[in-house]
Amino acid sequence: MLLRCSDEQELLNGMCRVIVVKGHYRYAGVWYSLNDDGYSLVHMAYALSSTHSHQEADFFRSISLSWANSEEGGAAAIAVITGKACVGRNLLTDPDHAKWREDMVRLGYGSVTAFPLRVGSVVVGSLCITATEPDAFNESEVSLLGELADDLTFGIENLRIRAKHQAAEERIHQIAYYDSLTGLPNREMFYTKAKSVITELREQHRPLAVLLLKAENHHEINDTLGYLQGDKLLQEIASLLCATILSSGVIFRAGEAEFAILYANADADAAVQMAQRLSSLFHGATDSSGLNHYARMTIGVALFPGHGVEPDTLFRHARAAMSEARRTGRDFLVFAPSLEEACTNRLLLTADLRDAIKLDQLILHCQPQLSLISSHICGAEALLRWRHPVRNMVPPSEFVALAEFTGLITPLTFWVLEAAFRQRFAWNESGLNVPLSINLSAQDLRDARLVTKIEGLIATWGAASNWIQFEVTESALMEDPASALETLRKLKDAGIQLAIDDFGIGYSSLSYLQNLPVDAIKIDQSFVKQITEHPKPAAIVHSTIELAHRLNLKVVAEGIENQEVLGRLMEMGCDIAQGYLIGAPMPTEDFVDWLQCSSWKLLEK
Ligand code: C2E
Ligand code: MG
Ligand code: MG
Repeated sequence: MLLRCSDEQELLNGMCRVIVVKGHYRYAGVWYSLNDDGYSLVHMAYALSSTHSHQEADFFRSISLSWANSEEGGAAAIAVITGKACVGRNLLTDPDHAKWREDMVRLGYGSVTAFPLRVGSVVVGSLCITATEPDAFNESEVSLLGELADDLTFGIENLRIRAKHQAAEERIHQIAYYDSLTGLPNREMFYTKAKSVITELREQHRPLAVLLLKAENHHEINDTLGYLQGDKLLQEIASLLCATILSSGVIFRAGEAEFAILYANADADAAVQMAQRLSSLFHGATDSSGLNHYARMTIGVALFPGHGVEPDTLFRHARAAMSEARRTGRDFLVFAPSLEEACTNRLLLTADLRDAIKLDQLILHCQPQLSLISSHICGAEALLRWRHPVRNMVPPSEFVALAEFTGLITPLTFWVLEAAFRQRFAWNESGLNVPLSINLSAQDLRDARLVTKIEGLIATWGAASNWIQFEVTESALMEDPASALETLRKLKDAGIQLAIDDFGIGYSSLSYLQNLPVDAIKIDQSFVKQITEHPKPAAIVHSTIELAHRLNLKVVAEGIENQEVLGRLMEMGCDIAQGYLIGAPMPTEDFVDWLQCSSWKLLEK
């Protein structure tokens, strides 16, 4: 029995049966002692002799005992209380069993013996045996039954240890393969499950879609509202996904803010439909918790067998599609082989850019700005260049966006700031006093370290507030208007002049213009270039200049490449001009020499 049983209840039942059948007793039962208020004894298992009557069965079915004292529980309680065997009590005369005397007489019971069941050092209950004769249970019989009780406790202990091990194993499995926050299976499990699903579908010649979803704003919620809110968001997303996908797919938590879905039997059409459904689900989520304000999902899709036959490849390809969707501002994208190459290239370029910052492969150029009022050079814009060891000059249009995407923009901007202040000090030393304008990215404006960094540089170089200026694009301002405004105010309070870059191609909301603490707008070159050829861009530029002047803002026109455009801009009352006509971007250290040779005069010495 001890060897065979894998379950505690089964062991208790079996032991009681063996005692009754082999020992020819009337009743054998196991009582477990609870530590509840009533000190209950729970009748866990019992067996009756094969000749038992109905009344006997009814009696044991309804009997309730307590180990509060011996009168309430008889031998079963005494064994628990004393921790010792309670041997051969006469049921017809024993005062501790007075409560059941009538029943005992009626059922023809003579004596009872009980043994404590000790698991470890704790008595967990007792084994109770009754016989017909009042003087049953001789010495050898008691010793044999005592051994049996010990065997039983050994068995119970063993099974409990086994159950604990099993629970621990289950827990380990749970921890290893399930996410504790959302209860979803994790990425490890994704690979295991995907492998078996693929094997099955392969035999049936059926497709599979892997969807990888990223919660876009999770990071910011963690940062601004705290981890609890961030966690809550993930839990809500998980339950919304489960409620939407139901049985058509299996959902996994694949990364910090990433979820993967295995969608069996789904071809490209079905996968796209699902992606559309999921992204609109999160766009339109009207959850009272505010989920709709935060959850924006970007989804990448990869298909078996078209995009890969191994779980790892499919996952990687879904991720490449997701990254590309994020980079290009789309809600979802299906993988295409060209993505992988682009992705690898970007990855390599990112690693190179990281080195470039460290190895000083970056060069600061500057482009002169001409005052159309005084016809003097009145400033310059700092423009970053990267001399890549293999690819030579990489344009900022390629690497600035990459830096923004990979979080390298902070070290990059800090590099520019340091170089700009150093250069500006050098200009000052050569008697040149025009502002150098620095471009800032959206992420810079969100970064609290930016203002501290600028303050530190001002202190280091003993800079005046007019040494440098900043340019911010409209789209950067609109990404997170509140924190952008806060940063701009701090810079403005430090006496620094600010301009809106690429004006006209972003959101162009005129209402926000009046609330921004800026001094100038830079009209984007796409309009400026056309003003002599097309009436509409000319009208836009003209009215923008008038509007800006009414709002007390200066106007800089970008991208001036010929004299006619410059002439028209002067007629329109534009304040400052920048473009190849005046001067192309050049290394900052060449600027002083350029000024001396150029036909444009310097505004101030
Ligand atoms: P932006 O700030 O609008 O800079 C003006 C861009 O127009 C520069 O391109 C400049 O070389 C180019 N440009 C100037 N005059 C002419 C012209 O007459 N014709 C034409 N076709 N182009 C002209 P660049 O240097 O390639 O920079 C591109 C963009 O990269 C910049 O646009 C700016 O948004 C970004 N960028 C450059 N340096 C930095 C930097 O240090 N930090 C950040 N965050 N962004 C930067
Ligand atoms: Mg600029
Ligand atoms: Mg611009």
